[in-house]
Amino acid sequence: MDNNFAKKLYDPGTFREQGHQMVNLLADYLEKVSQQKDGIPVTQWKFPNQQLTYWQEALQNPKLNLPDFFQQVLDQSIHLHHPKYIGHQVSPVAPLAALTSLVSSFLNNGMAVYEMGATATAMERLVIQELSKVLGFDEQADGFLTSGGTLATLTALLAARQKVSQGNIWEKGLRQKLAVMVSEEAHYCIDRACRIMGFGAEGVIKIPVNAQFQMDTSLLEEYYQQAQANGFEVIAIVGSACSTSTGSYDNLEAIGRFCQGKPLWFHIDGAHGGAVAYSSRYASLLKGVTQADSIIIDYHKMLLTPALATAVVFREGKDSYSAFAQKAQYLYEQDEQEWHELGKRTFECTKYMMGFKVYTLLRTYGPELFEANIDYLYQLTQRFARLIESRQDLELALRPQANIICFRYTSAKKSTEELNTINRNLRRQLLEKGEFYIVQTQLKGLVYLRATLMNPLTTELELTQLLDTIGKLLKAEMLSTK
Ligand SMILES: *Cc1c(COP(=O)(O)O)cnc(C)c1O
Repeated sequence: MDNNFAKKLYDPGTFREQGHQMVNLLADYLEKVSQQKDGIPVTQWKFPNQQLTYWQEALQNPKLNLPDFFQQVLDQSIHLHHPKYIGHQVSPVAPLAALTSLVSSFLNNGMAVYEMGATATAMERLVIQELSKVLGFDEQADGFLTSGGTLATLTALLAARQKVSQGNIWEKGLRQKLAVMVSEEAHYCIDRACRIMGFGAEGVIKIPVNAQFQMDTSLLEEYYQQAQANGFEVIAIVGSACSTSTGSYDNLEAIGRFCQGKPLWFHIDGAHGGAVAYSSRYASLLKGVTQADSIIIDYHKMLLTPALATAVVFREGKDSYSAFAQKAQYLYEQDEQEWHELGKRTFECTKYMMGFKVYTLLRTYGPELFEANIDYLYQLTQRFARLIESRQDLELALRPQANIICFRYTSAKKSTEELNTINRNLRRQLLEKGEFYIVQTQLKGLVYLRATLMNPLTTELELTQLLDTIGKLLKAEMLSTK
């Protein structure tokens, strides 16, 4: 028996050398994509099977040295730091935050119990306390970080179920018909959480939206009465701040007012847009937030942090212990509410040291960094809206409230079906060309191009170039269909 393999594996000299190579590679990469050197495209589209074949072949080619291998991964991945990355809501991470990810991956502290994640447990608490204050909650507020908005939503709604519903579902199982009310434009994670909790499809009551794609809060009373008449115990209302498709902020004040005095939990899905709490210019979009029982905010979307890191904040801190009122004697000696035993409150047992990433950004740059990022991106989106409005054959779905913008090619001479096909083709051609990355969505049966301005390196220049490219593609399309 020998462990020579281990001596080789953990050789500090080898690690030092590889580490320097990787950092050099990443710094060159950052320079290249952020400055668009040699006109590097934002993505090199490959069909899924092509991608599979490529990496299958690479797997059988062990001669490829490590830097070349990493270079290939960099080359063939989508470049979030590229100014023409205007697609999904994932952050072009602050390089410093990426370095903390390396450190925490190396340390691999587990976080389920304090002993196994002492530093990051303390950091996580301070991050949450700071966020609670920024949101305007008082000292009662408390919470934790978890692995993404989807899991955070489930955790918050489990707490809501435990607190609000009749009976003890955690111990006895679900015996009644429970429901949650949410806007029809809400993120699918709410629907998914309700189904996981056994509410079924009917347990997600979808409230129609107004012309701005915000929950029509004037319908709450009617839908609430109807649900009760149908034998449902409605336990919560979820407000979106903002919605994913259109970036619309629900009227949180109105939802809060409706919940008041009723056995209703008010949860806010602020995965994307809750971050505006950091901006004095845009915080008013969250007006009413302090009435909420819980809110989630993704640091890996608007706040420059590598995935995943999502805050779940409860107005009444003790509620943060409600989701998993389960005993795990081998982990914890007492059944008390101990802030430092995070596994009592999180879905995860072993958890990444996610607080470290956010804490590092806060201590190095201060919350001003978050504010600057939000202000820049939200303002740039307003400019983009004006650029779109100035083009004859393009129209906005609505005036954007956030950094998410939906627009489409339109023409009075074409049917809805024709227009949908043209807009779908446009987006497809943009993807395959790879110069820009934007996505698409469907609103009320109409196909829209959808852009999210995530990258603070994007300027009006790239946005104008995007519209010019769309103009050229449209011209070619019109010629070919004549
Ligand atoms: C992204 C998003 C989610 C899901 O968060 P993940 O971190 O991707 O799991 C939920 N709600 C909204 C509004 C979002 O934008």
